[in-house]
Amino acid sequence: MANIYDVVIIGSGPAGLAAGLYAARANMKTLILEKEKAGGQIVTTEEVANYPGSIEDATGPSLVARMVEQAEGFGAEKVLDEVKEINLQDKIKVIKGEKAEYQAKAVIIATGAKPRLLGAPGEKKLTGKGVSYCATCDGAFFEDLEVYVIGGGDSAVEEAMFLTKFARKVTIVHRRDTLRAAKSIQEKAFKNDKIDFIWNSEIKELRGDGILESMTLKNRETGEETEIVADEEDGTFGVFVFVGYLPQTSLFEEMVDMERGYIKTDDNMKTNIDGVFAAGDCRVKSLRQVVTATADGAIAAVQAEKYIENNFEE
Ligand code: NAP
Repeated sequence: MANIYDVVIIGSGPAGLAAGLYAARANMKTLILEKEKAGGQIVTTEEVANYPGSIEDATGPSLVARMVEQAEGFGAEKVLDEVKEINLQDKIKVIKGEKAEYQAKAVIIATGAKPRLLGAPGEKKLTGKGVSYCATCDGAFFEDLEVYVIGGGDSAVEEAMFLTKFARKVTIVHRRDTLRAAKSIQEKAFKNDKIDFIWNSEIKELRGDGILESMTLKNRETGEETEIVADEEDGTFGVFVFVGYLPQTSLFEEMVDMERGYIKTDDNMKTNIDGVFAAGDCRVKSLRQVVTATADGAIAAVQAEKYIENNFEE
């Protein structure tokens, strides 16, 4: 069994890296597979203000770099390879990457989720510079500014209410004339004096030189276009996009139990398959943050260790 890893972790965001750190520290032969670069969604965040212990100038990339260093310091191996095929049913799991094949006694899925983008011109360029996909992470940067929230589901309306704690005014821009959000959530938003609505509209373009300065909205019924320009004194405004998330779990479909594309686990991060665990944003959970992802990763690694102890003889 020389070439079999104890644990293969798929994904190298905070959940995968924390799992790697705990697994390697427990002396398990640990491999972390990453598709592009380490970090997951957090590397797109300029400032990480809400991770306990974050220092003032902590950025997503710097936090991830330290997590990588720590996991590797304990002996976790990290390989850049995209998983193309996987067999999780047998006792020894087989993971086929683009470059090589890996075998493992236990697998931790930490593939994360991605916010769905609008696809509007300027959106990518201005992400982290006025455009955000996370109110918990970035809301405080918009203290006393104007903010636009795009979407009409539970996330958009709940996050709009959260953003009223910081923003001077929050305008929900929805592509239809009724919200999709639960009635109870809608009622609270309609009662909130700081929240306005722009109906039947979508963003056509976002503009700004280094920071979001203006955008064009288009009314889907009338075709009318409206220019929104930052207040002169503010110089900028916020656009928070909540038009759904895309869990990165298609590889595991019809193998692992899921709910709306998110992997179902118990409190110990166990999936329906023996020896297969899931951690972080790819699983069904109520709060998708770095702090909850790292906690999931730690639990998954400890449980993987217990599973191996109980199921494999030395
Ligand atoms: P969602 O329910 O799928 O809603 C996405 C919203 O974005 C919809 O209003 C949709 O418009 C709009 N949208 C989609 N693509 C768009 C585009 N390209 N441009 C503009 N608008 C677009 O997503 P979610 O709000 O993130 O919620 C996901 C799931 O989590 C839901 O099942 C939700 O119930 C659940 N959730 C629950 C809670 C809670 O219970 N407290 C909180 C958050 C989320 P249309 O309405 O026109 O389709």
